[in-house]
Amino acid sequence: MCAAKAITGNLFERRTVSVLPPLPLAGPYDYVVPDGLDIEPGDFVEIPLGRQTQRGVVWGDARGDVDPAKLREIYGVLPVPPMGAVARRFIDWVSAYTLSPQGAVLRMGMSVVDALDAPKPVFRFGLARGITESDHAVRLTPARKRILGFLRDHPFMDQADILRESGTGPSVLKGLVDAGLVKREQMAPPSPFSPPDLTIGRPDLSPDQETAADFLCEKVEASRFSTILIDGVTGSGKTEVYFEAVRMALSLGRQVMVLLPEIALSAQWLQRFRDRFGVEPALWHSEVGQARRRETWRAVADGSAQLVVGARSALFLPYKNLGLIVVDEEHEHAFKQEEGVIYHARDMAVARGHLGGFPVMLASATPSLETLANVEAGRYERVVLGQRHGVAVLPSVEIVDIRVDKPERLRWITPTLKKRLIETFAAGEQAMLFLNRRGYAPLTLCRACGHRFQCPNCTAWLVEHRAWGKLQCHHCGYTAKIPDTCPACGAEEKLAPCGPGVERLYEEAIQTFPDLKIEVATSDNISGPKAAAALVDRVHNHEVDLLIGTQILAKGYHFPMLTLVGVIDADLGLAGGDLRAAERSYQLLTQVAGRAGRGERPGTVLLQTADPTNRVIKAIAAGDRDAFDQVELSERMKYGMPPHGRLAALIVSGKKENEVDEAAWRIGRAAPRGDGIVVLGPAPAPLSLLRGRFRRRFLLRTDKSVKVQAVIQEWLARVKTPGSVRVQIDIDPYSF
Ligand code: ADP
Ligand code: ZN
Repeated sequence: MCAAKAITGNLFERRTVSVLPPLPLAGPYDYVVPDGLDIEPGDFVEIPLGRQTQRGVVWGDARGDVDPAKLREIYGVLPVPPMGAVARRFIDWVSAYTLSPQGAVLRMGMSVVDALDAPKPVFRFGLARGITESDHAVRLTPARKRILGFLRDHPFMDQADILRESGTGPSVLKGLVDAGLVKREQMAPPSPFSPPDLTIGRPDLSPDQETAADFLCEKVEASRFSTILIDGVTGSGKTEVYFEAVRMALSLGRQVMVLLPEIALSAQWLQRFRDRFGVEPALWHSEVGQARRRETWRAVADGSAQLVVGARSALFLPYKNLGLIVVDEEHEHAFKQEEGVIYHARDMAVARGHLGGFPVMLASATPSLETLANVEAGRYERVVLGQRHGVAVLPSVEIVDIRVDKPERLRWITPTLKKRLIETFAAGEQAMLFLNRRGYAPLTLCRACGHRFQCPNCTAWLVEHRAWGKLQCHHCGYTAKIPDTCPACGAEEKLAPCGPGVERLYEEAIQTFPDLKIEVATSDNISGPKAAAALVDRVHNHEVDLLIGTQILAKGYHFPMLTLVGVIDADLGLAGGDLRAAERSYQLLTQVAGRAGRGERPGTVLLQTADPTNRVIKAIAAGDRDAFDQVELSERMKYGMPPHGRLAALIVSGKKENEVDEAAWRIGRAAPRGDGIVVLGPAPAPLSLLRGRFRRRFLLRTDKSVKVQAVIQEWLARVKTPGSVRVQIDIDPYSF
């Protein structure tokens, strides 16, 4: 064995390296560097893999786990800037933290592998130096003279410009190149992203904002890792303040990444951004087209895209010199990726800052309890903006007890809310009704036999969408026609909608206010940036009196004339056994309430509830976030749940229920024991049937000192499960 190795070592005295391909199950594999090829870690290369040609990144030294005689050669280096060491270490870190293969993590930043192709060359032409026309026995036709004359005044132009300006054809230009009078040079294609304008003055900041902005700018200048929570009430100017930090980072020549929970709905934010920096940022999210993605990927890699605004996947782009990350609305669930590599973008952003040695800023009016605990422990710093900007004040919040102040039968607007709406419209102001339920009714029921329409693929009711005449599952998208007769008992015309969705609320609103302009906004009709921008315009131009919508209206929008927000069912988010429910509901309702009274006129929020003593409702009405957070933190402490302990989930899923149960049973028998480790489950996962897969869940709760990843790895190594059953690992699950 040893001898064989020595011999092959002699035969193959060539350099070997490991290369990571962006494939879901891959780690780095060893390759031989062919003679004469200059290769550094981080280079993008082409490799043979199985029968295919793949692209990958040179990860580092060879691992040495395969006989060098069996290794294949790298084909060549691709013409793109190499991936920096920090970006590579970040991928390793995310892989180790989430227990996902490195290739799966790399893939998230290489969704446009063809960005690695050499871009189409661009040529420019100029006069060849040291040669004058008289040196040559070249016949100078008038057309040739026009080109030479033009190039004398305009050195190095591209072909299209030259031909247009001189009124000649390509063969004339080629003739001059062949004769040596004009030379042709290849140049890098221009970056599609202009550098930001840093001379635009900042707005006059209030003293509080000024203090906060100065603090953030110092952090950027220090060029060291730190995490800062920008904790400010809705409308306090958090965005204005972090824009100052962005400007500082740009002026120091660093790239900046801003993560937003839903870019498609951020029309207003983008407009403010353009106003402040005079350019379009590089956008990175699922709706950016392929061609634009390619350009963006390259511009991020070569550093010419200085500002990137993206959804969570922007974290994995190969930045050249990233120097600041801002995570806006850091508490948002949208930052959690729940499929494939399961991760929370906020936490990964902090890790990225740590590896890169730069500050990470988290902004929110309702920070997550995890972030608040990190502030309390001194790991994160905090700046506070306690007041709304200018004359705007926080809205007053009133509770409407629907058990006393009853709406009419099959109606959802209480008499009190109706009265306030009338007053608001009489004053020429706008109002919003919030109901976090798409469609007409959340449940359809047969009044003869009680049959309910359930999704065949999920544990979920089908939701009636009257506008389309369909029943739809909101988890898998399954649709069915609404039948005339009950499929269970055959009764005719007995099917009845149960409870309200926004469509049904709209019906009530137009009957109540026939003369008003009323509009519904949900992800069904406001799904992209265009639709969102158009909606913003309509509200600004007062083409809408009353907006009815779901949580898409909760975020970020600034409508100065909107003074009344009615929450139709404040109890909606509080149901369910999830320990995060109170926190989530508090955040959502605070954000919704935050839409009221952002201009000069003060706002009012009415919370319709059947449970007015609930602590979430009470805390929002009292505007007492600290009290709520303290109660909630002690509640979590009682159960040893995050942010106190550590938590991970295993989701066991498959198409056959008995196989899933059998696998879960075996995994359960191998469950780890030990100090500070508790395993709960298996239990049906929150959606025990999802897209046709049965799901069981384990929760692993440990003390902070336990290395939860190692525990899980050892645990799963002890069990064999059939290939038809999948086990997903969710470190720091959002719901528990
Ligand atoms: P937040 O992000 O905290 O909700 P924003 O930054 O969106 O707050 O500010 C709320 C509104 O107040 C925005 O329309 C913003 O342009 C305006 N605003 C905030 N601070 C200032 C300031 N210093 N000067 C002018 N307008 C400001
Ligand atoms: Zn479904």
